[in-house]
Amino acid sequence: MAARSWKTEAVVLRSIRYGEADRILHLYTLERGRIGAIAKGARKTSSRFGARLEPFSHVELVLHEGRGELHTVTGASLLRSHDASRTDAYRMAAGHVGLEAMLRLFIEGEENPRAFHALTRFLDLLDTTAVALPAVPGLDPLLLSFQLKLLWLSGYLPHLAGCASCGEETGLVAFSPQAGGGVCEACEAGSLPVSAEGFGGLRALLERPLADAPGAALSERARRDALRVVESSYEFHGGFRLRTLAQRV
Ligand SMILES: [Zn+2]
Repeated sequence: MAARSWKTEAVVLRSIRYGEADRILHLYTLERGRIGAIAKGARKTSSRFGARLEPFSHVELVLHEGRGELHTVTGASLLRSHDASRTDAYRMAAGHVGLEAMLRLFIEGEENPRAFHALTRFLDLLDTTAVALPAVPGLDPLLLSFQLKLLWLSGYLPHLAGCASCGEETGLVAFSPQAGGGVCEACEAGSLPVSAEGFGGLRALLERPLADAPGAALSERARRDALRVVESSYEFHGGFRLRTLAQRV
């Protein structure tokens, strides 16, 4: 393939120091989904990239595609810095969980514009979201809603309308990642118990827009149930646990 340049909107998911002055970037791009790139000289004080290539940054990039696995960043302009999230401990912790979820759920080079737009919307809303008490970033309603929507966009839609195992329409008592949703008392063996308010919370977080999540009056119980559903779905479908989430609940 001939070397070529292309332009895309992207969000920096992770930025790793490399060599003397470079950075290796994990990016989620609008055009091609998750990709890896190198920004040469990005850590020099004189760098033309400045602080634009840090996690949370929503940027427009010019990327050069060479023969190696990594793209090379040749131009970067900042669309949104998300400084309000970067400089607040609660928002920063919640944001890093969201970024890691993008890294783990989506494989490289597979475009998913809806996931890209969900990510930029999440980061925009995170800038102004208030601390949800108890102040545990992993239980933040906006973060929970974002992760449930990512599961849906990855094809792991938690089925909540009736028992995911037998189809019974009432009385969900547990969550089964194997069955792909809520299950009734007769089918609950080996599943994760979820309270009625937990199911109410899951529906509210999944079915309503991300912007409604910060205002959703969900009990701590409902949010803890939602978190366990998210974590068990990651483990069952992807075989992973989020490092950032383990630190923050
Ligand atoms: Zn059932």
